[in-house]
Amino acid sequence: MKKVYLDHNASTPVHPDVIEAMAPFWREVFGNASSVHRFGQQARKAIEDAREKVAGFIGGSSQEVFFTSGGTESDNLAVKGAACACRAKGRHIITSSIEHHAVLSTCKHLEKQGFKVTYLPVDKYGLVDPDDVGKAITEETILISIMHANNETGTIEPIADIGKVAKERGVLFHTDAVQAVGKIPVNVNELNVDILTLSGHKIYGPKGIGALYVRKGTRIEPQIHGGHHEKNKRAGTENVPAIVGLGKAIETAADAMKEESLRLTGLRDMLYSGISKKIESVVVHGHTARGLPNTLNVSFEFVEGESIILGLDIKGIAVSSGSACTSGSLEPSHVLKAMGVDPAISQGSIRFSLGRDNTKEDIDYVLEILPGVVSRLRAMSPLYKKSQYA
Ligand code: PLP
Repeated sequence: MKKVYLDHNASTPVHPDVIEAMAPFWREVFGNASSVHRFGQQARKAIEDAREKVAGFIGGSSQEVFFTSGGTESDNLAVKGAACACRAKGRHIITSSIEHHAVLSTCKHLEKQGFKVTYLPVDKYGLVDPDDVGKAITEETILISIMHANNETGTIEPIADIGKVAKERGVLFHTDAVQAVGKIPVNVNELNVDILTLSGHKIYGPKGIGALYVRKGTRIEPQIHGGHHEKNKRAGTENVPAIVGLGKAIETAADAMKEESLRLTGLRDMLYSGISKKIESVVVHGHTARGLPNTLNVSFEFVEGESIILGLDIKGIAVSSGSACTSGSLEPSHVLKAMGVDPAISQGSIRFSLGRDNTKEDIDYVLEILPGVVSRLRAMSPLYKKSQYA
């Protein structure tokens, strides 16, 4: 059976060059990077080389990059770490209602610890208004955390403008750039961000590795205590193979990004135009002009997204509804809810997220299979039948 993977915002296959780069670091260069002997020195050098690559790609310096176990840990370190370090100054945090749960749940946790959190609304495209950020800042505000690109809709937030507001008002600014890095240019100076999250497995690197960029002079308190690793920001023996893999993944993304972005935009647009020609009653979510090149989120009215996923999976096509972390629950997506999407419509939403191995033939295959899946489900849907007689 043909297999078409269109769930790259959930995870990506590890690039063969990344696997090759990582391989020696399990058997040959296996030393602990803190050890003084040559086994340790080699591991240390590999870590510092990877750090240079990550820093260079986002416009920072290597002293400003700290390795973590992934996007979730980086978000926790950013938000809790900044909150703990600045709590004497104030206890107010600003974020948005469409953040990944790695930020939202961390904020909820901090609320229980006595912090006050403002969850900014978004417009119908999922965009945060930088003016709203400015208006929400008080004397007590210590951190603003707004994601760069949304994992469900692909909408790209006006990060540079929000960063400008944060800078003018002297408030720390964190962005979760897990979905943006490797897909669109990300430069910490152009974006005016102080703290930035990225993750390996969204960019053809391994799972369980990520990084946090922390601008020089920004205070964050470590959240994992132990040895002096990562300049006292994150204790624990470094995962050398994964760090090397992240460095290689970044290098590979840097080489391919411009061309890939154009190619994926073409495939995504072809997918949407095919869907809207072949299937009636579809609603697109997110900002088409300000969106990630690889992401398309559409609702098929009168059917459940989960049923479409299963119908496509039988035919070898992998897509998702909402984010990977919330699928499995039939709760409507918090992102679509914040955008004002009717819950009945958001239940039928599907996220197609394209990647490096996808071809025009893959899109043709989806367009051949999807209309039949949707029409079979609609034929069983009382809501659809009702709409036909209305
Ligand atoms: N932030 C965003 C926007 C994400 O999409 C994800 C993963 O889906 C994460 C954070 C969490 O990253 P990780 O899976 O590396 O913990």
